Amino acid sequence: MSEDLTLSIIKPNAVRNKKIGKIISIFEESNLKIKKAKLMTLNKSKAETFYKEHANKPFFDELVKFMTSGPIMVLVLEGTNAVEENRRLMGATNPAEAKNGTIRSLYADSMTENAVHGSDSQKSAHSEIAFFFNE
Ligand code: GDP
Repeated sequence: MSEDLTLSIIKPNAVRNKKIGKIISIFEESNLKIKKAKLMTLNKSKAETFYKEHANKPFFDELVKFMTSGPIMVLVLEGTNAVEENRRLMGATNPAEAKNGTIRSLYADSMTENAVHGSDSQKSAHSEIAFFFNE
């Protein structure tokens, strides 16, 4: 049986706060396996494209500014129900609502600076992995 893939991003606040290792430990202690990883910095155009579905939201400019503010670590994770499992480990988008022990409850600084991204479906996982790794 083939395993699912998902894309994770360790966002600039978590990289700045030296939480890469802690977050990767959470993945390694789960059923997810790290297949690919790279440290990179997004430019404005690439960040705007990645978050294009939010282009009309009031937080869009702040989100793009934040996501381009420093290095990110992009990872491909593999495992059974990888998309759902990663989102369970991440916790809710709003860290105030994230369950104890989730990555966002531990390492988010705010709603915008919420430490991690995770694909929200297998379809978006497929396109997000291509966006970062098929260049
Ligand atoms: P995610 O899939 O949990 O990351 O959530 P979304 O796809 O809805 O939003 C993408 C990112 O935009 C989130 O991870 C946050 O960084 C940011 N974001 C979403 N909603 C809000 C909001 O209401 N306010 C602010 N400031 N940022 C938000």
